[in-house]
Amino acid sequence: MRLSVIGCGYVGIVTAVCFAKIGYEVICVDSDKQKIKDLQKGRIQIYEPGLKEILDENIQKDNIKFTIDLGECIRSSNIIFITVGTPSLSDGSLDVSQVKLLAQQTGRFINGDKIIVIKSTVPAGTNRLIQEVINSSNITSHKCSVVSCPEFLREGSAISDTFNMERVVIGTDDLSAANLIEKLYTRFSKNFVHTNWETAELIKLASNAFLATKISFINEIANICEKCGADVTKVAMGMGLDSRIGASYLRAGIGYGGSCLPKDTVAGVRLAEDMGYDFEILRSVINVNKKQLLKPIEILLHALRVKDLSDKVIAVLGLTFKPDTNDIRNSPSLLIIKRIFELGGTVNAYDPIAIPEVKKIYGSLIRRRRGRTVVFKFPLPS
Ligand code: NAD
Repeated sequence: MRLSVIGCGYVGIVTAVCFAKIGYEVICVDSDKQKIKDLQKGRIQIYEPGLKEILDENIQKDNIKFTIDLGECIRSSNIIFITVGTPSLSDGSLDVSQVKLLAQQTGRFINGDKIIVIKSTVPAGTNRLIQEVINSSNITSHKCSVVSCPEFLREGSAISDTFNMERVVIGTDDLSAANLIEKLYTRFSKNFVHTNWETAELIKLASNAFLATKISFINEIANICEKCGADVTKVAMGMGLDSRIGASYLRAGIGYGGSCLPKDTVAGVRLAEDMGYDFEILRSVINVNKKQLLKPIEILLHALRVKDLSDKVIAVLGLTFKPDTNDIRNSPSLLIIKRIFELGGTVNAYDPIAIPEVKKIYGSLIRRRRGRTVVFKFPLPS
């Protein structure tokens, strides 16, 4: 069985190498020609522990190939994973245009029965729409079933998360497609949730909304702890030992960032709004997070007993939203740096792996770079 993966970003490349590692032949396509050229040479633009080693091993075994030819990819595979990005639109909803475009294009290349697995995070109702789009562009008698299989990996531990998936959600009414996808994932997980498209889509949205809620909740508890002299790490530990609560996502800090939680929480509020429902809790979670992101500045001003940061040089350690990744999308550090500039301060920033990423986006604003440290020029754009 040959698999193809459309979109070689964090989710796509990890999905591809993990299936290649367990022996499948995988062909990957991306619209970014440079990314494909790099991948063909074993060069990856993202950092993820263990990823490069598995990629090199499977390029050598000839288990994984990279192309910009979408038609080749679809025609030569039975199972096609769609892992393209679904960024936020200006109204907060998710932009599913790339997923829809691929559905249209896929229909044209059908040359046998296919399963299209949607791993991109999409709002409820999207998989149904994709099935309709594929049906209308499929002029053959071959069957092409859409299966919703949302991704739950965490950047920084994506490889081990994939080999030890806590659950695989399979959303489709097509029983044979569902069974085939379960078989495909049996090396990765023991737990399968079979359901329809909309439920699968909602499981992903609800999971991210809940994780964000835990983070904002413990951050509010931390703020209360500061006022009454309690130790939030012990409060979290004491809470987390209760199996009804669980210990994860209870580390108080500067709030959540990254490519998923910020966009998926806003999209959750937006999706509910579109259905005439006010997702009140999630709106509060987002508001708490916005305030928490600038808490370090508040603490700094208070500690220095000043109103602005003019003449201050401030070190910022870490430019990504978490360790072991070079993803700087929605990184709280960059927001904090921007606020330091607004208050007249200067920044020396350090990151062990993300400096090249920062240079790509903020290159013209970097005054000096020494190894893994950059000195930013004023001001950093939004
Ligand atoms: P990404 O931006 O890193 O990668 C997307 C890739 O798709 C890019 O390489 C882009 O060039 C490619 N692409 C876009 N349009 C294309 C097209 N028409 N044809 C071929 N390639 C195309 O995104 P990501 O972080 O991997 O996320 C992908 C999806 O998975 C999103 O919906 C995201 O919300 C979801 N997700 C991400 C994570 C994560 O930790 N990054 C976790 C769970 C779910």
